Amino acid sequence: MQNLIRNFSIIAHIDHGKSTLADRILQVCGAVSEREMHAQMMDTMDIEQERGITIKAQSVRLNYAYKGKTYTLNLIDTPGHVDFSYEVSRSLSSCEGALLVVDATQGVEAQTIANVYVALDNNLEILPVINKIDLPAADALKVSIEIEESIGLDCTNALQVSAKSGVGIQTLIEAIIEKIPAPSGNPNAPTKALIYDSWFDNYLGALALVRLKDGNLTQGSEVLIMSTGKKYEVLSLYYPHPVQKIATKQISCGEIGIVCLGLKSLNDLRVGDTITDSSNPTAKAVEGFMPAKPFVFAGLYPIETDKFEELRDALNKLALNDSALSYEPETSVALGFGFRVGFLGLLHMEVVKERLEREFGLSLIATAPTVVYEVHCTDGSVLSVQNPSELPEVQKIAFIKEPFVRANIITPSEFVGNIITLLSNRRGVQEKMDYITQNRVLLQYALPSNEIVMDFYDKLKSCTKGYASFDYEPIESREGDLVRLDIRVANEIVDALSIIVDRSKAQEKGRALVEAMKGLIPRQLFEVAIQASIGSKIIARETVKSMGKNVTAKCYGGDITRKRKLLEKQKEGKKRMKAIGKVDLPQEAFLAVLKID
Ligand code: GDP
Ligand code: MG
Repeated sequence: MQNLIRNFSIIAHIDHGKSTLADRILQVCGAVSEREMHAQMMDTMDIEQERGITIKAQSVRLNYAYKGKTYTLNLIDTPGHVDFSYEVSRSLSSCEGALLVVDATQGVEAQTIANVYVALDNNLEILPVINKIDLPAADALKVSIEIEESIGLDCTNALQVSAKSGVGIQTLIEAIIEKIPAPSGNPNAPTKALIYDSWFDNYLGALALVRLKDGNLTQGSEVLIMSTGKKYEVLSLYYPHPVQKIATKQISCGEIGIVCLGLKSLNDLRVGDTITDSSNPTAKAVEGFMPAKPFVFAGLYPIETDKFEELRDALNKLALNDSALSYEPETSVALGFGFRVGFLGLLHMEVVKERLEREFGLSLIATAPTVVYEVHCTDGSVLSVQNPSELPEVQKIAFIKEPFVRANIITPSEFVGNIITLLSNRRGVQEKMDYITQNRVLLQYALPSNEIVMDFYDKLKSCTKGYASFDYEPIESREGDLVRLDIRVANEIVDALSIIVDRSKAQEKGRALVEAMKGLIPRQLFEVAIQASIGSKIIARETVKSMGKNVTAKCYGGDITRKRKLLEKQKEGKKRMKAIGKVDLPQEAFLAVLKID
């Protein structure tokens, strides 16, 4: 029965208690037994549990008896990180309401606001929920006022809960039933199912999580994927559950469910796409479909050059589960054969690298992340450059456009000065500065994307003692005065170390970079020059002195085991090095650029 269904999401800034609240709701609805319950049920990947972040959206169907009726509550989880904002918007468009969770000791943060905007764009009923009221520092009233003033959401009846102790959870569930509307949609119209998540299952193949906007999906029927025009038979259907999904013959209008078409890849089940009935297709797909677009690129190379094929296999396998991952083989003079990989953002990059190393046992070198530059050449052609070493010679470039983001930063007012300094160093352009309360400020800036992929978040945290929160969305590209900065080690350009920088900063960056490299490159048997250059012009230089005598010489006397140990230790160290010409570079050298400012 459509009027007994409630589809809702939980939105929150990181650490405000979204996962804990989801666990409590699952428990109160009896979805998992005491034995199956472990903290953060909804975060399934290892990396998610370890870091306490949600990467992949999860959903769960729950039942709750209220006033003599049994309601179906579909809790639709969303990934919490800006890298996955497109998935967030698709998940939210599958709901009618959202719980806006705000930590009673922290107040409104950047991601709170970013998520609320997406929820409002999707016309969701938003229920403010003030969490962690068990903490002594909780100030629910103050936080209510903050929500009212910064978001304009009425908080007179804001729910106060402790996701940890369970206080207020029952009232919360009843408020969901009372206040969030049942799904609209016409059960008799042609089938219209929005794919809001997809993943790969080892037994069933590619699976799509869908929300039925109109009509039904039935097992055995033939469906049409609207963006590709391909037709498939529905092999099986399920309702999502955190422990064991539940098979069903039909998913009805207003419901969510899992669709299995027996596909071997995620290519035909992309988030945002629409599934319809092939014999009676809907006239219009659900609006807003967008193929995933990488935001940053980096080179990934195996440290041991003979592991290239293994890396390819590993990427192929990961991509089965991650349709946003894109990669192409590339070669580097310095690093040999590897891949240029496109990521949704820095977290996505970190997670992918970690999974490749952890799940596939690979040791990798990652080059500094770069954004995509639009290079307009003098001959009229336009290149899309994802790798600094591909930038054409200066004479061939008419101008370069670089991508920008709009950044929202919320901070206690005492740090505003520090942040403004940081942002102007990063070529930011202020668009807005608002006091959301007496001592909290919202800063809005347009920033070159290139500046946020270079260690921006850590710098922001350190200049605000961790109190500022940050969120961004891509905006248009703008023309920039950009040059390629090359690093030469022992007089040879190491292509994997090249970066594209603002011309006015090139000198300073070059100097900082060679200094940092000097500290990272171990002494060799000979003197090594490290230089920064733009074109043929050397702009900075440092020297790593030779280590002189063989280090084992210091083990004079006859202690052969000590000598052997020392040699073995050196060999161990070598494994994490990459030989560039005659010089061994440690892994960290390739990311040195992220640490300078
Ligand atoms: P998420 O990032 O929004 O998913 O937040 P989590 O659910 O992972 O919670 C972040 C931290 O806050 C964890 O250490 C939780 O144990 C803690 N936490 C969540 N809810 C409460 C609460 O109601 N009271 C207290 N004291 N701690 C909470
Ligand atoms: Mg979480």
